[in-house]
Amino acid sequence: MTPGRRGKRPEGRRSTAPARRLPWDQVLDRLSVYYQMGLWRVPYLKAHAEDPFQVLVATVLSQRTRDETTDRVAAKLFEAYPTPEALARAPPARLRRILRPVGFYATKARGIRELSRLLMSRHGGAVPRDMEALLALPMVGRKTANCTLVFGFGIPAIPVDTHVHRLANRLGAVRTRTPEETEEALRKVVPEGLWVPLNPLLVQHGQNVCLPRLPHCERCPLVDLCETGEAFLERGPALPPRTVKLLAR
Ligand code: SF4
Repeated sequence: MTPGRRGKRPEGRRSTAPARRLPWDQVLDRLSVYYQMGLWRVPYLKAHAEDPFQVLVATVLSQRTRDETTDRVAAKLFEAYPTPEALARAPPARLRRILRPVGFYATKARGIRELSRLLMSRHGGAVPRDMEALLALPMVGRKTANCTLVFGFGIPAIPVDTHVHRLANRLGAVRTRTPEETEEALRKVVPEGLWVPLNPLLVQHGQNVCLPRLPHCERCPLVDLCETGEAFLERGPALPPRTVKLLAR
């Protein structure tokens, strides 16, 4: 997962209409096809689920890095240093060598070593289960903290990355400029019982159908629930000028 950029609009001009009330149970039910197909494009989270420490560190590694690279590097890292105790004592040069393929590897090598040291000194080697304590750790922002709560502990939370931010706005469920605003807005409108599957299903949809530059509304199961999809249906088969321009590149 890559984090959304602060202050960047998800796309184009924002609607001034009030946000829509969506039947979130139907939205997630229709997207559950991704689970049925066994599609899960964030392997570093799947491989290390149920180990909050590895979920936390893998999510830090994933910042500004492709999922495949994160998965490869995380596997190598945890083979050598599977616990906070081991990682806190890792030789910095070896850590940098292992992390070299990920973005900002030197900063992350320093950060995860310090993070491990603080887990040992503040929390007895365990990952804290609450947002405030997670945010007090180095390299941990709201998305990483939320991922740790959901994927490490199964605690309801809403990690918002660039896909969730874009989709929530295209659906018309929120009118927000930043992932932080989107998280706050989604917490108000999505029933808490649906928070855990929300991120993985929207991320899958954002990677496979509702692509950043060109949403495939013509094959989207949400088309009749979605604000952007409704506009697509009204327009008919004609492609919008922006799409024509993109295809001509
Ligand atoms: S209908 Fe289009 S814009 Fe809406 S979620 Fe589907 S692909 Fe995205």
